Formats: sequence, structure tokens, C-alpha cells
Amino acid sequence: MTSSTSPSAISFADLGLPKPLLTSLSELGYENPSPIQAASIPILLEGKDLLGQAQTGTGKTAAFALPMLTSLDPKKSHPQLLVLAPTRELAIQVAEAFQRYSRNMGFSVLPIYGGQSYDNQLRQLKRGTQIVVGTPGRVMDHIRRGTLKLDQLQALVLDEADEMLRMGFIDDVEWILKHTPQERQIALFSATMPKEIQKVANTYLSNPEHVKIENKTTTASTIRQRFSLVNNNQKLSAFARVLEVEETEGVIVFVRTKLATVDVADKLSARGYRCQALNGDVPQNQREKVVEKMKRGQLDILVATDVAARGLDIDRISHVINFDIPLDTESYIHRIGRTGRAGRTGEAILFVTPRERRLLNAIERATKSPMEPMDIPSASDINKKRALNFKQRIADAVDKVDLERYRQLVTECIQEGDHDPETIAAALVYISQETKPLFETEKDFKPSEREFDRGDRSRRDRDRGRGKSNARDSRDSAHGNRNKKSRDRKGSHRSEDMQAYRIEVGRNDGVKPGNIVGAIANEADIDSKHIGHIKISDNYSTVDLPKGMPKAAFKKLQKAYVCGKPMDLSESE
Ligand code: AMP
Repeated sequence: MTSSTSPSAISFADLGLPKPLLTSLSELGYENPSPIQAASIPILLEGKDLLGQAQTGTGKTAAFALPMLTSLDPKKSHPQLLVLAPTRELAIQVAEAFQRYSRNMGFSVLPIYGGQSYDNQLRQLKRGTQIVVGTPGRVMDHIRRGTLKLDQLQALVLDEADEMLRMGFIDDVEWILKHTPQERQIALFSATMPKEIQKVANTYLSNPEHVKIENKTTTASTIRQRFSLVNNNQKLSAFARVLEVEETEGVIVFVRTKLATVDVADKLSARGYRCQALNGDVPQNQREKVVEKMKRGQLDILVATDVAARGLDIDRISHVINFDIPLDTESYIHRIGRTGRAGRTGEAILFVTPRERRLLNAIERATKSPMEPMDIPSASDINKKRALNFKQRIADAVDKVDLERYRQLVTECIQEGDHDPETIAAALVYISQETKPLFETEKDFKPSEREFDRGDRSRRDRDRGRGKSNARDSRDSAHGNRNKKSRDRKGSHRSEDMQAYRIEVGRNDGVKPGNIVGAIANEADIDSKHIGHIKISDNYSTVDLPKGMPKAAFKKLQKAYVCGKPMDLSESE
């Protein structure tokens, strides 16, 4: 099946998903299925095999996770679904997605990958789990050892199959396929379909339905399209800089979820922008008012989901900001079509996180127009612009305001204080800055600058390397052991740039320093060398982490799991 269905045409309920899943999706703020989801979910719900062509960032995880969750039984504790992924990073991401989607259903999800201690995995496998998400090498090991039994497996997903091929896992994947029962459903997802993958599909899938999303290929030539590489937690300040430097009129900011519309709109309002969130929950009459305000220039920015912005026709939109990259190229085309209307030119800016680069390529291919790379304005650009604006304000005041009274005051200041007029004027500029300094002193904006952001760019490559060695040599490499000695030292001295955090998982849960390092490194993109002393007590542990952790990283860690238990991270006194 080839689909070019607009993402906004169908709802998750239309696809036949049960109530607990619909509840989770609405709690997550998902409004509508992406095209790959709309096409795949009904097929998988029917129990058919599926061959899907899609890459990361299109929503493919939910495309298989949601329907497959409906056929599993939480009361039975043996593995019923196995997902194979090329890297530990993806395995963790997919396992987390399963946890999020199934939170109202009571399943246990276990990620297993090389580099993590066997003890923990064995304990969890013994305790019972319905969903296993793993890298091929480690999954093979567990099957060989008899610790992962697949005799009652109902379904199997091969995720990023072409990546598994590229990384030399294809024999392992076939070996695993041969160790699964005859009657099981298979979904195979791959960004490309090289002949080796087609061969696997022909051999192991039975009468699979094909799903490929057909891309629209038209964008208006009146729209300049640019992209900038940023990390997630830099997007807001990057956007604020763009707003300062570019000449904007109305701006529409696109994000992925309802929750994000409110979050981003709140943050922009706090920075003084006239801004409103527009999502599927905003009632029609309210929506009309907001659109009207935007048309009249009483609002500067709308923060919207794809669904909410459907059909928006506002001439004065000068900029479309793709704050979150869209899940499919067609949405991209819909989005940027909100600018460049009524014969005007428009600007479309796309924020891409390093791991979404492939999606950027897909958009460029679909629109048949390469995008211009764009630097986020530097501190010096901002300062030049502010100086220019400031001079303009002075010129306007000189033109339009009766300055006589003020002139007298300045004359008095000059005479009484024995200062020259330039010094007095400079002092006035200083005073007029109030709480916001006129000049930006921050270093220039680069995605790689902040400690907590470093992971994104290099992680995937690193993981690939690790994955490879896992497949070839699947012995446990005990991730985190490098620094283990120093972490275990009693009474280790905390350096000034570190802070102690407490997590609610301790010795009684079977936790070891390596588990904590692995979880924190993966969840918050913190390089393991920045994870300091770890002290394990019976019911909790403490860990030293760099000071000034961004809120987003902290939140992620609060929700993260170690040894099957939520970390519940908090600052330790
Ligand atoms: P994936 O391609 O599965 O890696 O998903 C990319 C991102 O899109 C993830 O952050 C998902 O949580 C998010 N996502 C997936 N489906 C939807 C949807 N229908 N609406 C909003 N966000 C989604």
C-alpha cells in the first residue's frame, strides 16, 4: 500500500485502537496519527505481516507499538513480543516508547543490549516480561543460554532493518528469526529496501502488506527555506535570537504535541512576546478569536500543532518556524505553505536536532529543493541589531518628542557634575537598560557548547561502534566499569562543580554503579566520565552529577528507570 494520506484526516480512534491506548496518546498530547501510523496500524491490528518503509522521526515506533500492544496479555508473564533494533540507543528509545504508550495497561518492558550487566537482565527476565526490546547480539546470547524463551512469542519487529544490515547483524537477525515460532506476526521497518532486506522479507514474512509513504513534491518558490542544527534544549533561545535579528511580522511556530504548544507559548509569553497556543483542544470560537487577533496584528506568534494550523490563511505570516521537525514531508509542505501567501515572500526555518538529519534529507528530496544552512545569530549579530534599534529609538524621540524639560535636566547634570555630554549620555544609556542588558555577553551559540547537549551528535556513531562489537563479541563489557573504582571509593571528595543527587533505587533492588551510570548516560546524554561518585545504600543511592543540570535533563532522569524501578531523581541535601 502506498499512502499519501494527510496526517490530519484521521484520528487514532478511527484506527480502532482501544481505550487505554487512546488515553495514553491523549495524555502524551498526540493529536493525530502520522501517515506511517495511519497506514500501518490497521494492518497490524488485523494480525497481518507488514513491510514498512520509514525512517526514524516519522512516528514509526508508535506505528508498530500501538497495534501490537493490543494483542498481548499482561496477565501472562512470558515474552510475547520481541523488537530487534540495531543500537542500544534505539533499543532504549523503543522500550521507553512502549512504556509510555502502555502505561495504562500494566505491561513490563525490558530493553536488553550489550554493555549492560547480565545479572540485571537475567533477574528481570526471570521475574517475567511481556515485551523485550534488544540488540541482536545480546538477544542471541540470551536465547543460547536459555534465559530468553521465545516459544510463546506472538510478534516480532525488525526495526531499522537496513541499519542492522549495514552494521553486520543480518546473520544474527536471521538466526533469531529461525528461533521464533512458525505462527508469529512480523513487522519489518527499514528506511531503504536493499535486496538483502527484501530477501529476509520474502523468506520470513507471510503475504506482507507493503506500506510506503508517498511524498508530495511541491513547495512554493516564493518561500525561502533554511535549516539550523540545534539541540532540543537550545531551541527556545535559538528562536529568540532569530526573532531579534530577523524582520518578522506574524510568526507561526510548529511543535509536535498539544502539550508543547502550551509549554512553548508560555515560555515565549514570559519573554515578552504576544503569543498564543493553538491546538486541537482550543474550542472553535476561541480559535477564531485567536486567528482574528493574529490577522489584525494584535498577536505576534502562534504556537501550533499540524492539526490546529490546518487551513490557516493569514497574509501577514512572514515566518514559519518548524520548532520540531514534522513527522512526514507532507506535513512540512503544509506547514511552510502558511507563509508566502497572497503574492508575498515567506521564510521557513527548520530546527533539526543532530539525530534528525536523515529526516532533513528526506524533506529535501521530497521538496526537490535543498535547504540553506543557517547559523543562529551570534551575540555580536544581536548586539549590532540592538545598537541599531537603540539609535533608531533616539532618532524617533528627537523627531517626535518635546525634549525641552529633559534637555534642562541634562544641562544641570553637565554643569553640576562637571561631566562632558558624552559621559552623561552614556550613563543614561546604562540606566535605560533596566533589567535587560543592552548587549548580549553570552558566548556565541553553538549546538555543541553545553555539557548536557554533547551526547546527541556523537552518540549514535558511538553506539554503532558498540553495537558492532556486541554482535561480534557478545561478552559483557560492563558499561561504566572504567570509572567504577573511583565511583565506589568511600568518602570520595566532591568537586565544586558537582552536586549530589539521590535516586530511589538501592542495594535491595540489585543496583550496581554500572546500572546507574548506564541509565544516566543514556537518559540525559551525559558522558559517563562526567558522572561522579556513586554511593549505594540499601533502599536508595546517591550520585554526583555536574552542577546546573538543565530542567529537561532533570525531568528525563526523574522519569527514568534503573533495574526496573523509577529513579525518582531528587537533589540530595
Ligand atoms: P519515531 O519516528 O518513532 O522515532 O518518532 C519521532 C517522535 O515523534 C517521537 O518523539 C514520538 O514521541 C513523536 N510522535 C510519534 N507519533 C506522534 C504523533 N502522532 N503525534 C505527535 N508526536 C508523535
